[in-house]
Amino acid sequence: MSGRFDAGIFVREEIKKLVPYKPEIYPDMVKLDANENPFTFPAEIQEKIYRMISPGSFTRYPDAMAGELVREITGCYGVSPEQVMVGNGSDELILNLMLTFGAGNRVVIAVPTFSMYGIHARVAGAKIVEIKRNRDFGLVVDEIIRAGESAGLVVICSPNNPSGNSATTEQVASILAGCRCPVIVDQAYLEFGGTDLLPLLAEYDNLVILRTFSKAFGLAGLRVGFLFAAPGILHYLFKVKQPFNLNNFSQTAALVALRNRELFTRQVALINEEKEKLYRALREMPGVHVYPSDANYLLFSAVVPAADLFRGLLREKVLIRNFGDPLLSGFLRVTVGTPEENKIFLSALRKVIDTLGEKKNG
Ligand SMILES: *Cc1c(COP(=O)(O)O)cnc(C)c1O
Repeated sequence: MSGRFDAGIFVREEIKKLVPYKPEIYPDMVKLDANENPFTFPAEIQEKIYRMISPGSFTRYPDAMAGELVREITGCYGVSPEQVMVGNGSDELILNLMLTFGAGNRVVIAVPTFSMYGIHARVAGAKIVEIKRNRDFGLVVDEIIRAGESAGLVVICSPNNPSGNSATTEQVASILAGCRCPVIVDQAYLEFGGTDLLPLLAEYDNLVILRTFSKAFGLAGLRVGFLFAAPGILHYLFKVKQPFNLNNFSQTAALVALRNRELFTRQVALINEEKEKLYRALREMPGVHVYPSDANYLLFSAVVPAADLFRGLLREKVLIRNFGDPLLSGFLRVTVGTPEENKIFLSALRKVIDTLGEKKNG
């Protein structure tokens, strides 16, 4: 029997083509590859979280509606509870949106962008329609609207990962008005900059705004995302959602983080100051072209091949992000780190570019 069983017979072609996400683990690196908050999580907030965890948090299932966290979110962002949903990272919310609105439909994605939209769309069995951004990574609004006419879902990221630029309110309003289907705007990096599109929610019932605790709030390890949308959209998302998706510990941690958000506002201000310094240093570096960014990372290209630069930096114990996406060939993305980390990155980058340049000329 065992020799003859082929699980693949029962698997869709799109699933077979997917490559599992198993990122390599690089120990002891200056880690600037995943846009995390580089600062130590505030000890006083950690203490408060631990104090709120009771033995019941372990034995009992969590609140399926995450009521307390949702209430805190509504107070903080000025929305009503019927407009909020939380998830196990915004990744899970993206998958649920794809399963609910994308499955069997077209999903329009403005590319290059965050790779999870395409992956989750494929898993859900959607047909992906990619609309290329322009040379500066700006949205081509009329093409998105045209493609959106026959789609079940449109996805835009603002500030966009990895380019760092943002959509304007006018652009997103045009897309919302021009498309009948739900339009996701992923604002995972909004705390760092860019236009807040939440005011559009009152006007457009097809808007879905994604947010996360993974970046500015330093909770990437606990997986908490949330979204804002009209009740008409949440009505269907709640049918698809796993009942106990967000565990007790993460619900509590996100709640406490939000109640103490001024501590993170301070960290965000520091990160943005560091971003400006890093941007200026990269702009002045010969052979480097860097893009302005509203987020906590910078996209850049260099005169030397990106893959060589990436590997050279690894040898210097600095991990940044390279890309498999052909639309991003030649580009690298560096997350803004602590002041020390950014210094290490810059001097490693200078060294590697010099070495690679000498090899080329010598
Ligand atoms: C990091 C990131 C997220 C956050 O994902 P989580 O699952 O909430 O950690 C969402 N969207 C984009 C574009 C991101 O870069």
